[in-house]
Amino acid sequence: MEELKSTRGKMQFLHEIYVFDRLSADWPKKFWSCQLKTECKARLHMTADSSEVVVQMNQHTHGSDAVQLQAAVMTGMKRRAAESTEIPSVILNTALQGTSSAVQAKLPRKDAVRKLIQRSRKRHRRCSSTTG
Ligand SMILES: [Zn+2]
Repeated sequence: MEELKSTRGKMQFLHEIYVFDRLSADWPKKFWSCQLKTECKARLHMTADSSEVVVQMNQHTHGSDAVQLQAAVMTGMKRRAAESTEIPSVILNTALQGTSSAVQAKLPRKDAVRKLIQRSRKRHRRCSSTTG
């Protein structure tokens, strides 16, 4: 399971096959709502320190959107690439944990992912070099 930061700076969390938006962080718990919160009442309670799901409230009232999930997975991989030194296949496998085959089918091939990870790392190094 992965905590993700979307391109708009919003914290998101991939749980099973659904994307959740961060609702609030009220120590020692974090609360997440399904990203379709206007129509779906599914919520997650999570421990703030270890990001483990304590309880899921309500069931999703919809199927999952493979395109949305794919975007979330890609964002998570780029972030992980920038922040860790893991090899691309580890990053890919971690990102794919809990995703459906429909999502996996939409992701780029492994060599494309490797290039994406290398690009993310280069960009990240350039950015962080100015801060020391
Ligand atoms: Zn939902």
